[in-house]
Amino acid sequence: MSNIAAAIITIGDELLIGQTIDTNSAWIAKHLNELGIDVLRRVAVGDNREAIIKALDEEIARASIVLITGGLGPTADDITKPLLCDYFGGKMIVDQQVLDHVKAMMAKRNRPFLERNLKQAEVPDVCTVLFNKMGSAPGMWFEVPQSKTGGERKVVIAMPGVPFEMISIMQDEVLPRLRTQFFSDALLHRTLVTAGEGESVIAEKIMDLENALPAHIKLAYLPDAGMVRLRLTGRGKDSDLLTKELETHQLELAQRLGNIVVAHDDHSMEKIIGDLLLAKGKTIGLAESCTGGFIGHLITQISGSSTYFNGSIVSYSNEVKQNVLGVNKETIESYGAVSEQTVTEMAKGALRVLDVDYALAVSGVLGPAGGTDRVPVGTVWMAVADKDNVKTKEFRFFYGRLQNKEMAAKMGMMMVYKVISEKL
Ligand code: AMP
Ligand code: MG
Repeated sequence: MSNIAAAIITIGDELLIGQTIDTNSAWIAKHLNELGIDVLRRVAVGDNREAIIKALDEEIARASIVLITGGLGPTADDITKPLLCDYFGGKMIVDQQVLDHVKAMMAKRNRPFLERNLKQAEVPDVCTVLFNKMGSAPGMWFEVPQSKTGGERKVVIAMPGVPFEMISIMQDEVLPRLRTQFFSDALLHRTLVTAGEGESVIAEKIMDLENALPAHIKLAYLPDAGMVRLRLTGRGKDSDLLTKELETHQLELAQRLGNIVVAHDDHSMEKIIGDLLLAKGKTIGLAESCTGGFIGHLITQISGSSTYFNGSIVSYSNEVKQNVLGVNKETIESYGAVSEQTVTEMAKGALRVLDVDYALAVSGVLGPAGGTDRVPVGTVWMAVADKDNVKTKEFRFFYGRLQNKEMAAKMGMMMVYKVISEKL
């Protein structure tokens, strides 16, 4: 079965001068892909009439679904809306629902309603309006006249450039429509989350099972910082039957992979840890040096984390390590702030000060400056303590500062997971 083809056009001068990074295309491509829609091309153009029309002509010629973001604002540089209206031979009319929404937004923010805002409620009379609950500029869905496509159904979907507005319109309006209008088959996913083995090792272990998958079920490896997600995607007429098939294959893979499987749903490590702590009725706290509170941020991304997360002490300076966590001055002087001995005392201190069942402590040199021969850039020591034990581990990361911080956070959570689940 050949997949449906899509193209993405992102519009805005800011994209071409490197001021804004085009994150919209990546988000859209990822979510279309999950639906089984292939993105053939991604194009960025400026706020320029000829360039936009040329891109539209070219992409409509090659793809069934053309998604556009940007240029829908109320300012003079935003030309996409009138341009699309012309392109599809319509005229602008005021949409009452959008008008009411824009007026309510202005009132809520205590801002006057301007002539300019009336323009935001105007839409071409040849589109289906995609309501934008997060902002004022609505999305638009156009059907390309089939006289121009040789009888094939093609659509052009325009959305604002602001990422969270685009995402909300995609989730509420676009993806559900694409799913029901472009597929008669059910498309279902089942995910297994593994931790502690690389994708090559996993691929070796499950080679025969993977090769034996039927043609309508595909397996994808999605690696990320110490974890690999295995996603089974199936397509079929009968969704109940497909669900059963996917569950059978998922179980088979899980049995083969044994204790590296950490979740049977597509959950993040912070969610997995949260569920584990809830199930055990235990609490956690952190002592974060080089991660600066980032692990606390990740853990609190989960709703309900206050039940098991007591807090994080961002102990960046040696004084805070000593005065708040009770690390011995001599320990830091003899072994250094980035050492097994210091993180051990940090973890024990956090356990006591935060009054928790588990404490993770992290201390490292993320770079680019600050490395020494003994403790080179990228060195991160971690310790996880409970009332009986302290486990420690040294990591060496080789990326830029931000990525090193992310890796440290993810590996720290992995260590916590292993201790709590008693796999360490
Ligand atoms: P616009 O809809 O053109 O008014 O875009 C509004 C804002 O959204 C711009 O100033 C950018 O900051 C942001 N933006 C536009 N296009 C993109 C894109 N492709 N990826 C990420 N952000 C974008
Ligand atoms: Mg713009």
